[in-house]
Amino acid sequence: MIEKFGISSQKKYELIDLTGHVQKIASRIDSGAIMLFAPHATGSIIICEDEPGLKEDVIEFVKDLFEKKGYKHDTIDDNAHAHLISSFLGCSKLIPVEKGKLMLGIWQTIFFLESDGPRERTVYVKVLS
Ligand code: ZN
Repeated sequence: MIEKFGISSQKKYELIDLTGHVQKIASRIDSGAIMLFAPHATGSIIICEDEPGLKEDVIEFVKDLFEKKGYKHDTIDDNAHAHLISSFLGCSKLIPVEKGKLMLGIWQTIFFLESDGPRERTVYVKVLS
C-alpha cells in the first residue's frame, strides 16, 4: 500500500518540512525504510539542516544556478528553471528506519523544495519493511 499526504506551498520558492509527517509513518515500523516520492516535475525532495539562514541559502543557490533567460520551455509555460531544479535535485528519497525512528542525522531534515509555487502538492510514502 502506498500512503500519501498533501502540502500547500505559499510562495514561488519555499522549503516545506516533511519530517513530522514521515516520522509519524515511520513510528509504525520496527525495521525497514521509507521511500518518499513527489509526483511533480517542478518540485524536489531534499535533506538539509533546518536553519533559517541555510534555508535561504538553498533557495538563493538554486535561483543563481537555474534561473536564466532564454530557456526554450519558457515560451510554453515559463517554468523551465523549476523543471531543471527538480530534474537535477530529484523528487524522491529513501530513508532507513529502525525501531520506529527515521535514521536521520541530528542536523538532517526532510524538505519539499517548491520552485514553481504556490501550488498544492502530494507526497507519496511507501513503507518498506
Ligand atoms: Zn513547464
